[in-house]
Amino acid sequence: MTDRRQTRNVQIGDLTLGSEHPIRVQSMTTTDTADREATLTQIRTLEAAGSELIRITVPNRESAANMAAYKAAMTVPLIADVHFDYRMALLSIEAGVDKVRINPGNIGSEERVREVLRAAKAAGCAIRVGVNSGSVEKDLLEKYGWPSPEALVDSAMRHLGTCEEEGFDQVVVSIKSTDVITCLTANRMLAEKSDVPLHVGITEAGRPGYGSIKSAVGIGGLLLDGIGDTIRVSLTAPPEDEIPVAFDILKATGVRVTSPELIACPTCGRIDIDLEKLMNEIEHRLHGEKLPVKIAVLGCVVNGPGEASEADIGIAGGGGMGILYRKGVAVAKVKEEKMVDALMEEIEKIKAERAEAAAEVGA
Ligand code: SF4
Repeated sequence: MTDRRQTRNVQIGDLTLGSEHPIRVQSMTTTDTADREATLTQIRTLEAAGSELIRITVPNRESAANMAAYKAAMTVPLIADVHFDYRMALLSIEAGVDKVRINPGNIGSEERVREVLRAAKAAGCAIRVGVNSGSVEKDLLEKYGWPSPEALVDSAMRHLGTCEEEGFDQVVVSIKSTDVITCLTANRMLAEKSDVPLHVGITEAGRPGYGSIKSAVGIGGLLLDGIGDTIRVSLTAPPEDEIPVAFDILKATGVRVTSPELIACPTCGRIDIDLEKLMNEIEHRLHGEKLPVKIAVLGCVVNGPGEASEADIGIAGGGGMGILYRKGVAVAKVKEEKMVDALMEEIEKIKAERAEAAAEVGA
């Protein structure tokens, strides 16, 4: 895995994006922004799901009029999403949002983009410049013949040039495409040319099944290259469903682990336990657990020590008994019905050990 790409700090409310900070997970509300009650309810749902930034679309004045109320109610930074009408960006900045996402390609003219940048600078508001296949300027389309990765990158660099001319550096860029290869290529190219933090995602990924896989390949591929400072998984599903998928991508790539990782054997003819039932119980008991720990759950004791050796804790069932491993070494034998209790006790022990180690470092 490549080291994280060095990016500048961009302040978004209380949260800082950039390579010195964790890669953040965000999502977007899907309610009518003019409907204050429905939007506030969805904001609370997204916050509870773990969304660390929340974006809300601002298509009209009724919506813009609600942004101050949303900001006041939120515990995470608020991002206004603006298309076509630069005045909605100005109203959002005035309402105190922490960041505005604009697509300079559809905002009207360069002068309007500059006006938004100046207002953002004066208010201490960050900007995300969004570039996608549909927003590439005509001259770049003529030059490249299609919204190629080169065209997307040239378009992003052009907008970054405008930010620079305005003395505005609190900018994040996203280059998105529904095509994974185009998205990966363009982001890798842009990462070479600028130190601006990147928001990465595969746009319109689709339904949760295939959409999660497509997002994992696209976002995960970039994260493994060290690229990406904030991510959004775009699914055709309630937005809160995007959050666990995003955190799982961070976990699977190892770039940010905020909960236990469960490793489980696929089972085979040697299976000697109801592994699905066991996994369901473990998942249930671990719900909400934040300890970054690898747990291997194995269907038999034959290959247990070997297959559990990469994990912090392993349990293998068979013959009505369960064997508990620490780093592949058997440490206890318990009755099958006590396996999960034994696992949970081991997790508590690891927590205590890590707390002690941290205290020693701090002493
Ligand atoms: Fe098969 Fe046992 Fe390996 Fe699971 S742990 S795949 S049951 S040999």
